[in-house]
Amino acid sequence: MIIAIDGPAAAGKGTLARRIAETYGFHHLDTGLTYRAAAKALLDAGLPLDDEAIAEAMARKVDLGGLDRTILSRHEIGEAASKIAVMPAVRRALVEAQRRFAGKTPGAVLDGRDIGTVVCPDAPVKLYVTASVAVRARRRYEEIVEAGGSADYDAIFEDVKRRDERDMGRTDSPLKPAEDAYLLDTSEMSIEAAFQKAKSIVDTALSRNA
Ligand code: C5P
Repeated sequence: MIIAIDGPAAAGKGTLARRIAETYGFHHLDTGLTYRAAAKALLDAGLPLDDEAIAEAMARKVDLGGLDRTILSRHEIGEAASKIAVMPAVRRALVEAQRRFAGKTPGAVLDGRDIGTVVCPDAPVKLYVTASVAVRARRRYEEIVEAGGSADYDAIFEDVKRRDERDMGRTDSPLKPAEDAYLLDTSEMSIEAAFQKAKSIVDTALSRNA
């Protein structure tokens, strides 16, 4: 069983993916972390972010078992990740690794931008989780403040918007819902309500497959 969850930055798809994986005992991969790991390796080595061959070599070295969310969640790593994510050779390398992960039994939940469209187009469950830019920026702002940090809402808003433009505007695997994806707009929905909705979709797919 493969569950594909896509959507823009800060839409809540990671939280949703983790809960679904926990509920069904499936493996979970946040594919954004794979782009982030390749980007961090480039930054750490002082290598350029605009050389496709170098970036591809780094992408091929990414170890899916060693992705540390706490370290990789840094803002500048996300920015660098979205820059190298426009490169077809980088995407090919990471998509190969992601597809191997998707084959794990008894099932796998992958979340990202192109899971339902490119990585696992045959996934029996596809969710596209989204929310307005303002709602996503507000959630990210509150997350930072609740964790004791300081944040600037307007800067976060601009940031989310810029990331959307880059992810939706690229030629290779742009962010968009798969034709057969279930659209889950969480702008006015709690994470709990979104989870219940997602769960009912997964249950239906599982009973169909049984
Ligand atoms: O989801 P996250 O913010 O961690 O992703 C970082 C960047 O990696 C995104 O902005 C996007 O450009 C890229 N990405 C992608 N395809 C995926 C997952 C992430 O292009 N499946």
